[in-house]
Amino acid sequence: MAGNGITIGVLALQGAVREHLEMIESCGARGIGIKRPSGLNGVNGLIIPGGESTTIGKLVDKYGFTDALRSLGAQGVPIFGTCAGLILLARRVKGRHGTLVELADVTVNRNAFGRQVDSFEQDIEVLGIEDEDRPFRAVFIRAPLIVETGELVEVMARVSQGVVMARDGHFLLAAFHPELTGDVRIHRYFIDMARKTDKSGVEV
Ligand code: GLN
Repeated sequence: MAGNGITIGVLALQGAVREHLEMIESCGARGIGIKRPSGLNGVNGLIIPGGESTTIGKLVDKYGFTDALRSLGAQGVPIFGTCAGLILLARRVKGRHGTLVELADVTVNRNAFGRQVDSFEQDIEVLGIEDEDRPFRAVFIRAPLIVETGELVEVMARVSQGVVMARDGHFLLAAFHPELTGDVRIHRYFIDMARKTDKSGVEV
């Protein structure tokens, strides 16, 4: 199976951790919740889940994750930020607040869909995932929007308001919650990124 032999960490400070772990396991990879920076040793990839970015940012700071996450990114380990996780990974956030990890070359607008549209679901086309012509049911919850992308950033999905999924090298970014619909294609895509950059160089 695609995920065999791959370990994906999920930052387990706050937010939708369990759902990501279940998706990882159903792709055949090993999923581990990460509560301390030392837990990052040996992961092949890391997911920063959705939740509340100000809260996650404070906990990232408090538990000493800021430098650990930056060094993970600098080592080329794939990191996937979903929703609040995207906000933490973005280098620029409009109306900036608190601690951010600042790795991916995008600008993000928080709560970009407005207060009256708290959450919604929409079928979107995601380029590059398996069976890409089949729509992906995306769940948006007080979602951010990617409003600017750096030169090397690939846009993977848009809605009428703007970009909702992108990839900047080994950083994957989604404004929605791919762990909530039972469609594993985006998790498989990320596990594949992790497999390809596996430090051991072993084809699994
Ligand atoms: N709007 C939230 C924030 O700014 C993110 C929401 C989410 O992760 N579902 O942190």
